[in-house]
Amino acid sequence: MDIISPLNNSLALLSRLREISKHINEAEIKNVLADLSLELADAKLAAADLKEQIVSLREEISILKAQQAPTEKPEVERGCYYFDGDIDRLYCAACYDSKGLKSLTARGPGNYRVCGVCKHAAK
Ligand SMILES: [Zn+2]
Repeated sequence: MDIISPLNNSLALLSRLREISKHINEAEIKNVLADLSLELADAKLAAADLKEQIVSLREEISILKAQQAPTEKPEVERGCYYFDGDIDRLYCAACYDSKGLKSLTARGPGNYRVCGVCKHAAK
């Protein structure tokens, strides 16, 4: 549903109301008010429809981003990945392989590297 035309129509109706109110014709004002209400109801429906579409598109975008093949080539160290030769920053291989996310790992018990996001442990 188009949101622009009900809004334009509402603005035109408002101008007409201003003109009519100068001469005060109650029946005509009531008619224009009824038309204005309809236009605003259309605009409200269109806005709700757009809001739903935005939510749905955002979900679609996040799914597509998750499915997108990683563009960087990781190197492997102790079951973790590192990038651009920066071996001090070890990332979770599970997060990167499944979601393309670069999740930093931290030192865990028994010299394991533990992912801060999915808690995957690698040695
Ligand atoms: Zn992870």
